[in-house]
Amino acid sequence: MKLEQNSEAEITEGLLEAIRSLPLQRVVEHCGSRVAVSPFELYADCSQCGMRVKVRSFSADAEVEDVFDAVFEWMNQPGAQDLARRRQEMIREDDAAIDGDPPLSNDPRSGRGIELD
Ligand SMILES: [Zn+2]
Repeated sequence: MKLEQNSEAEITEGLLEAIRSLPLQRVVEHCGSRVAVSPFELYADCSQCGMRVKVRSFSADAEVEDVFDAVFEWMNQPGAQDLARRRQEMIREDDAAIDGDPPLSNDPRSGRGIELD
């Protein structure tokens, strides 16, 4: 079986850890008050003065949120979300196995490829 290599991008363990540990909210301070927004929001509205504060950097240096954006963009393709969901289930089962639970029975769907001409 011949496998296609998909990319030559350099993926470091640090990047993977940054993705895994991204908080589900970003806390923004303005006018002495704090507001929590999604880490993917570009702006946050101050609850005191109403000012719109930029919370994502738009510099050439990519940040971890940009990696998520690339994945989200990929997931906008038809069928991609199903692939992602199936992989999420596999990862969840692996994590459960590592935590000491017995592994779930083999899913007959997993690993089955789609025939290509
Ligand atoms: Zn403010």
